[in-house]
Parts: sequence; C-alpha cells; structure tokens
Amino acid sequence: MATIYDVLVIGGGPIGLACGIEAKKAGLNYIIIEKGSLTNSLYKYPANMTFFSTSERLEIGGVPFVSNNPKPTRPEALEYYRRVALKFDLDIRLFEKVEQVSGEKGNFSIQTSKTTYQARNIIIATGFYDIPNLMHIPGEDLPKVRHYYEEPHFYAMQNVIVVGANNSSVDAALETYRKGAQVTMVIRGNEIGKRVKYWVRPDIENRIAEGSIKAYFNSSLAAIRPTEADIQTPDGLITIPNDFVLAMTGYQPDFNLLERFGLTLSADEKRLPVHNPDTMESNREGIYLAGVVCGGMETHIWFIENSREHAVKIIRSIVG
Ligand SMILES: Cc1cc2nc3c(=O)[nH]c(=O)nc-3n(C[C@H](O)[C@H](O)[C@H](O)COP(=O)(O)OP(=O)(O)OC[C@H]3O[C@@H](n4cnc5c(N)ncnc54)[C@H](O)[C@@H]3O)c2cc1C
Repeated sequence: MATIYDVLVIGGGPIGLACGIEAKKAGLNYIIIEKGSLTNSLYKYPANMTFFSTSERLEIGGVPFVSNNPKPTRPEALEYYRRVALKFDLDIRLFEKVEQVSGEKGNFSIQTSKTTYQARNIIIATGFYDIPNLMHIPGEDLPKVRHYYEEPHFYAMQNVIVVGANNSSVDAALETYRKGAQVTMVIRGNEIGKRVKYWVRPDIENRIAEGSIKAYFNSSLAAIRPTEADIQTPDGLITIPNDFVLAMTGYQPDFNLLERFGLTLSADEKRLPVHNPDTMESNREGIYLAGVVCGGMETHIWFIENSREHAVKIIRSIVG
C-alpha cells in the first residue's frame, strides 16, 4: 500500500524545513520534496554574503543559531540549517522536482520528477530565487550577462556593469571593485536603495562619491554587445566598454507553477497568491502557502524572520 502523507511540503528552504519540523512535532506523517540541494536558494547565494538579520531571527524549530559574527554569513546559515535538518531527522527527498498536483483535500496526488505521492494536505514553500526579473533589452541573452553573482575573483581586471541599487547589487559592486574590476553601476532611481544594509550603505556611497565606482542614477541599461554596452542616462545615450553585466534586478516566484497547481493570483501587478492570512490556506482547499512565495512580486515583504511563523499557523490549521 502506498503511504498517504498527512502533509507534503514542496521546497526544502528554511521555511519548508520549519513546516516539516512543526508537522513532525504535531505527530503528522509528512514528507518534504526539494528540487535541488538542501536549502537550495541559500546554497546559490553569493559566497561571501552576509544576512541582514541577526542569527536568532533566522532560527527554526527552537534550535539556537550561534554565529561568530554580528550578522551570520552564508556558510554559517548552511551549516545551521543542515544541522537542524539532521537533528530532527527530517524526511526530505532532495534533487526531486514537484511537477504537478491533482485531486483534492484529503486525497491529493503529487507528481514529481521521480515518482508519485499521495497526501491529504500540501504546503507550497517554493520561494522566489529560481526566476530572475529580466530587463528585456537587446543582448541580455549574451553569456557575459549574469543574473546570479557568486564571487568576485572571476571579475578581476574586467569592465563590469552592475545593474540595480539594492543589497545584491551593492554587495556585487563593492566586492568586484575590491578585487580589481572597473565597476559601473546603472541605477534606475536617484539614490542607493533604502533597504541596503545600514553598515554597507556608507561604504558604497563613499566609493561613488570619490569616483572609484562610477554610478549612473536615473538611468537604465539600453543594449549589451560583446565588448560594450549602451546606457540611457538623463544626459543622453552613452556607450562604455564592457566585459560582464551583473543584472541584479531581483527575482520572482514561479507563477506558472502556482497557476498549474490551481492557485489564484491577484489581478494587479503584485500577483499575490490568494490565501487566508490566519491559516495560510490558498484558494484551493488543503493547499497552503508558506515563506517568501506568499509575497508574489513583492519579494521584500516576507523574509525568514517574519515568515517562519507560517509553519506554526499551517500545522495548527491542519491539526484543527
Ligand atoms: C541574497 C538574499 C539575502 C537574503 N537575506 C535575508 C536575511 O538576511 N534575512 C531574512 O530573513 N531573509 C533574507 N532573505 C529573504 C528570504 O528570507 C530568503 O529568500 C529565504 O531563502 C526564504 O526562504 P523560503 O524557504 O521561503 O524560500 P527558499 O529558501 O527560496 O526555498 C524554496 C525552495 O523550494 C525549492 N523549490 C522550488 N520549486 C520547487 C519544485 N517545483 N519542487 C521542489 N522544490 C522546489 C527551491 O529549490 C528552494 O530550495 C534573503 C534573500 C536573498 C535573495
């Protein structure tokens, strides 16, 4: 007889793990399916990335997160979530992608890249880090254009354009500049983003003020070619030499997947997946939403900090 799970969690990020832990604590029969490695999004973050949250705000399952730094680093977070998953002996299947969901509450059938599962309830905790926001400009598909930044050494002695002015862009600009890249920032607004980490902001503002990083404000990248790029500035179109473009233009949830699973999205540009904020249940009975996926295009609304409570709400609702 095939196992019928009380809960099947899609996504093994921090919030998917939190859901598994709460389900286990409630004595439910659960499974977590993750298409990549454990905490796949965190694994793909820039190598030297520092969280804006302090470590205790990233804790799940009541397990203390001890960091050696005022704000934890990516390797510390990977270490922490792996230890938590092992401590709770979570039932998690890695490198297995959920492709389709059919049936109804109490009797869902979940098709993955490897097999089919049966579950009474489903939690979607798929995050937003898989699909970059595109600029839709000529040359964006060139191999030198990157939507994910890993580490700076690669860019030494290269002309690098960094698009955007939020945390990812500022981190990439400062790191590559310090490893000998000639960095030009192309920024849509008239200042560095308001959410940039407070201890990083003076650094980038001073580098721009002294001219060691060139920044074009109120500007946008217009076209990219193999050895140069066009920037639309308030003073007109300019062309500069260019080897790499780091397009740190943000990411968005997999809306296609949500719609395929029968979820309704708000009709405005926010594309919020419809859900009850008290239970986190979506428009489809028995299918719940957890973590940053809940914010639709508003990817700055939910963090680990404030969305880890989704796990408790959902399991409380399931247990009744
Ligand atoms: C650079 C960066 C820095 C951040 N810093 C902070 C911070 O300091 N503090 C904070 O609170 N938040 C931070 N966030 C925001 C947010 O908290 C994180 O994005 C966090 O990873 C969200 O957790 P999650 O579990 O909701 O989603 P994710 O961690 O993205 O997990 C979703 C998982 O679902 C998997 N998945 C997707 N589709 C499928 C499928 N079809 N089948 C199976 N698995 C699937 C993905 O592979 C992924 O592992 C940061 C985000 C970014 C991008």
